[in-house]
Amino acid sequence: MIQLSQPLHFMGTFYREVRQAIIDIETMFSILSQHPEISDKPDAEPLVVREGRVVFDDVRFHYDPDRPILKGVSFEAEPGQTIAIVGPSGAGKSTISRLMFRFYEPQGGRITIDGQNILDVTQASLRAAIGMVPQDTVLFNDTIGYNIRYGRWDASDAEVREAAGLAQIDDFIRSVPGGYEAQVGERGLKLSGGEKQRVAIARTILKGPPILILDEATSALDSFTEHEIQEALRRVAKGRTTLVIAHRLSTVVEADEILFLDHGRIVERGRHAELLERGGQYAAMWNRQREAAEARAKLLETEREE
Ligand code: ATP
Repeated sequence: MIQLSQPLHFMGTFYREVRQAIIDIETMFSILSQHPEISDKPDAEPLVVREGRVVFDDVRFHYDPDRPILKGVSFEAEPGQTIAIVGPSGAGKSTISRLMFRFYEPQGGRITIDGQNILDVTQASLRAAIGMVPQDTVLFNDTIGYNIRYGRWDASDAEVREAAGLAQIDDFIRSVPGGYEAQVGERGLKLSGGEKQRVAIARTILKGPPILILDEATSALDSFTEHEIQEALRRVAKGRTTLVIAHRLSTVVEADEILFLDHGRIVERGRHAELLERGGQYAAMWNRQREAAEARAKLLETEREE
């Protein structure tokens, strides 16, 4: 029996590695086929992150020449600061995160990290320095543990669990049959949007990048989940330069600077209290969201009473 299980175990590991290689190659090809024009310059050097200062200097961008999306966006994120980008749907918020990650390149202006233009450095070094928590996380059809360890392959089991704890997902994982070995995906455990996002946060905590981009999910979360995710994000953002693409303004109250983007331009900027005081578009959006939240809470209360 032992003699038989050894090769089977080996075959299992081998199969898993081959399958992972295929997934990675597929991911790579899908990125390359979507963005074939992005390539490293012949003299590209690896990015060296000393402090993590991110600067957007008059960045202009369009997907389609007839329709400018970013019309001269400038801002500076000091090392360790959190900058929140808010604004109406379609304003260009997620486009900023795609440019940072260099899925696309701006047609004007420049983006620098510690003084290095991101177009001059290798894509691999740029992407290694940035942790991205996207709106919709795609998980591999493998175990939950594997999906977290994807952030750093040499992490120990204890480190994986610690990252999951910080991301507020450890209790949930322990409560499911199989725990960290539980399979996720089509034929396994189905995770909710909030759970998937916390797996992505745990993965990013393991990766430990100096710069973070958090693209908040647009989908409404219940207030408990929202609170858990907020807390997880707060922990992962600590000490890292962070750009948060925020849809719910409750996320941005503590940001060092809030940029209100409208039709590809920053039309208001400042801290939460300053922007409320100003009584402009941010304040109007804040009031709308607060009224909606109050109405939701009232509705829940009446439902509970009935
Ligand atoms: P939301 O809050 O709804 O997520 P957003 O502010 O993040 O919106 P972006 O995703 O940056 O907006 O999109 C800005 C505009 O660019 C939108 O009008 C969108 O339709 C357009 N757009 C986004 N991706 C592409 C693409 N790959 N090709 C062409 N147009 C695109």
